[in-house]
Parts: sequence; structure tokens; C-alpha cells
Amino acid sequence: MRATKATIDLGALRHNLQLVRRHAPASKILAVVKADAYGHGLLRAAPGLEDADGFGVLRLGEALALREAGYSQQLLLLEGVFSADELDAAAMHDVSIVVHHDAQLAMLEARAATLAKPISVFLKMNSGMNRLGFKPQAYKAALQRLEACLGVAAIQLMTHFATADDEHGIASQLGVFDDATAGASYPVSLANSAAILRFPEAHRDWVRPGIILYGATPVTGVTAASFGLQPVMHFTSEVIAVQTLEAGEILGYGARFTATQTTRVAIVACGYADGYPRHAPNGTPIAVDGQLTQTLGRVSMDMLVADITYLPNAGVGSVVELWGGVVPVDAVAEAAGTVGYELLCAVAPRVVFKVTG
Ligand SMILES: *Cc1c(COP(=O)(O)O)cnc(C)c1O
Repeated sequence: MRATKATIDLGALRHNLQLVRRHAPASKILAVVKADAYGHGLLRAAPGLEDADGFGVLRLGEALALREAGYSQQLLLLEGVFSADELDAAAMHDVSIVVHHDAQLAMLEARAATLAKPISVFLKMNSGMNRLGFKPQAYKAALQRLEACLGVAAIQLMTHFATADDEHGIASQLGVFDDATAGASYPVSLANSAAILRFPEAHRDWVRPGIILYGATPVTGVTAASFGLQPVMHFTSEVIAVQTLEAGEILGYGARFTATQTTRVAIVACGYADGYPRHAPNGTPIAVDGQLTQTLGRVSMDMLVADITYLPNAGVGSVVELWGGVVPVDAVAEAAGTVGYELLCAVAPRVVFKVTG
């Protein structure tokens, strides 16, 4: 069988969750498991997150899958519901919803009398990111409508930061949020991964970690290891052929690499159809038999190439780490001009998943 696989380390997930607890000991943790747990597999990853107080998902189906699997924690639909049918089902299964827009509020009011049970709502403010949420000046009015709505069981207040990971920080958005919610005494949820690590003043009642649970960095240029995070996904394959190039010979599609000296290369059974980024240039870090080396040439659909000139013992059958413990996913992402989030989410369906720990 083709050896390309992603091994999910539940021990690392537990470790990262505990690290969040240590950073925000007074907050409840809503583990964000949208996008199939950032590509790790929702029900594969969830056992490593059992200690979380809740789960944040995007689609109702993900919430129902967690309920069906026996998870009794709070579940939150991060974009709310997309139809009245979904609202009914969310209420029935004790799934909390974000309400971020007038249309969602109106739908809730219209269905309130017929919901199976009252529903728990996170009312979202657009505190400056200008993606989802009520503007600060419209927020109190939306809150009053929720308070008057019979279908609402509990109310929480939330916003989301645009620049928690960079030098702009959260001060401006936090100020807007606190001003517009002054006097309202509901639980508050503000912090994503970057804010959990960088801004304790934003921890409040519920933190919402995503990427740090999976052991990748939320802050470009700062390694996950420096935060004490452990990588959860180990994306590995094997060498299926070896070639020796003489000076002047080219490698692969587009002749993107030309040897300047005798160069031994390993052909690795992993390509962009497995989720490895095609934009990764010559020199992207990769490990062969646990030794750090670099990619050479263009990534193709089913294969890529590692330089083994200085790894004389490497050959057919050698284990290759695309990312994991030796090569942080963030290092591959940086080389390819993206972030670890995108690479983790993009691991392809044909990759075989294993679980350890
Ligand atoms: C995705 C998401 C998060 C998690 O973000 P990370 O940067 O991965 O921690 C938190 N809150 C909301 C609303 C989200 O959509």
C-alpha cells in the first residue's frame, strides 16, 4: 500500500489543550474543531479534546455527529444556522448558535414559539474586523431583542479579533467591545489562539482555541515549539525511487532544478494531490530517516523530491516526514507562502489516517 499517511497524536492534542488551560485557568475552553478539526478528522481528534468544555463547529452536521458520538459538552455553530430547519434541529439537540446578523435574529424570533427547547445564543459583535456581527451601535438593541425572545435559553456575548497575531494587537477592538457591552452581565467570549497566548485581558469566560490545539503557530514567525506546543499531525511517506543527477541535468516538471554537482535525490510518494503545497519551492524543509534536508524541483501531483546527497544511507523505503516532529508544518507553510492552518486543512482524502496516543 502507498505509504502516504497522516498520524494523529492524541497525546499531543491533550498536551496542547492543557497548555491552553494553564494560559487561561479561569476560562472555559471551546475547542474549535471546524474544518474537520483543522484537517485532523473531527471524530478522530475529539477523543484528545474530551477535557474541553465545549466545541466550536461550522456546520450543523458536525455538531450532530459529536452529539451522536456521545459528546455532551456545549456545542456552538460559529456562523449560526443557515435555515429555519437548522434552527429547529439545533434547538432539539442542545446546539448553541452564533447570531451575527439581523436576518438570523428575525428567524429566531419567528421560530421561537415552536422550538423544541429554548436555544443558547452567542450574540456576535463586529468590533472592527468587518466580517460577521452587529455594529457596536446596533448591539444593545440586538441584545434587547434576544432578551425579549422566548426561544432563548442563555445569552453569551462574543467578538472576534482581526489582528491578535500581529503588532496591531487587540486593544482597539477590545475597547470597542467593552464600551458597547458596558453594564451587560453575560458571559463573554473573545479570544482565539493568538489572543489566548498574547492577551490575558481577553480571556474572559470562554476562550476559543483552534490552531494551537493542533500544535501549529498562530503567530507567523514565532515557532509553535517556543510556545510549548506539540505537533499533532505527522504527515509521512516513503522514498519509492532514487536518482543520481550529474551536473547540468534537470529534475522534474518545468526543469525547476538543475544540478550543479552530482546530486542524489529521493522520489517521495507524496504530491499536491495528497495536500502537499505545489508552491513549495526548492529548499523547502523535509526530513528523510529523521534527518532534516530540503526539497528539490517542482512538486507534482503524486510525487515530490528530497535531496539525499548528504544522506548516504537513505534509499528506497526510507521514511520521509513532510511535516510533524522534525519539520514543523509552519516551516513548510512559510516556504510555500502560506500558514500552517491552510496546509493542515488541505490534507487530501486519499491520505490514510492513523491515530496514536
Ligand atoms: C476559527 C475560529 C477560531 C479559532 O481560531 P484560531 O486562530 O485557530 O485559534 C475562534 N473563533 C472563531 C469565531 C473562529 O471562527
